[in-house]
Amino acid sequence: MTKIQAAVKPYRNSDPAMAMVREFEERVEELGYSSLVKEAATYAEESLQLQLEYPNPICIKHDSEEVITAEKLKAELRRGLKQKTREAVHEQSWQWKLTSMRREDMSLNFNGCFWWLSGWKQCQTHTVAGMFELYEQLLPLYACQTTHTDTTGKVLCRLCNKAPESVAHVLAGCTALAQTKYTTRHNAALKILFFEILQDLGLVDSVPPWYSLLKPKPVYESHNA
Ligand SMILES: [Zn+2]
Repeated sequence: MTKIQAAVKPYRNSDPAMAMVREFEERVEELGYSSLVKEAATYAEESLQLQLEYPNPICIKHDSEEVITAEKLKAELRRGLKQKTREAVHEQSWQWKLTSMRREDMSLNFNGCFWWLSGWKQCQTHTVAGMFELYEQLLPLYACQTTHTDTTGKVLCRLCNKAPESVAHVLAGCTALAQTKYTTRHNAALKILFFEILQDLGLVDSVPPWYSLLKPKPVYESHNA
C-alpha cells in the first residue's frame, strides 16, 4: 500500500521538485534499474493497473475495469486488503465460522463494541484477547450448550474449577479472581471518584486517567479540608 501510494504521489503534485522526482524515476526505469514506479506496479498487478500520468494518475481495476482516481486510491487499497484478509480467514475452517457469526450478530454493533480498539491505545493484549473471547462467546458453557463447537463437556471455570464458566461468573463470581482482579477493578473505579473529590476541594490540580498507575496518598490536607 505504502509503495503504491508513494509512486502515485509525485504524479499528482505540481511542485517543480516533484517533476524532478518523476523525471528521475522514469530515467532510472529506462536504464533498467529498479524504480519505485516499477516496484509499485508489481505490487498493484494482482488487482490494479497503474496509469501514472501527470497531473491525473489513475488505476484501473482488473475485474471491473473501473477507473480509480488518486483521491480514491487509498480507500480502494484498503478495501482490497480487507478483502484479502477476509478470504484468508474464510479458508480456516473453524475461525471462519466464529468470525461470520460475529459479523452477523446484530447485538454486536460495530460502533458500540469495537470503538475501544482504536480509542484505547494503551490497552494490553490480554485485555483485547479476553474481550474477544467474550464477544466470540468462547466461554465453555456457551461453546458446549449453544454452539456445540465444544464436545468435551467441560464447562467448569478454567481458573477456579468450581463453577461453570459464564460471563456472570467471570465478572463477579470467581474465587480465583476475587483477591486480585476484583480488588484492582474496585479500586480503579473508586479512584476516579476519589480524585474528582480531591480536585473539587482544591487538593490536586488534575484528575489522572483511570488507567494511570498513580496511587492515592494516605493523607491530603489543605487549610479547609
Ligand atoms: Zn472461576
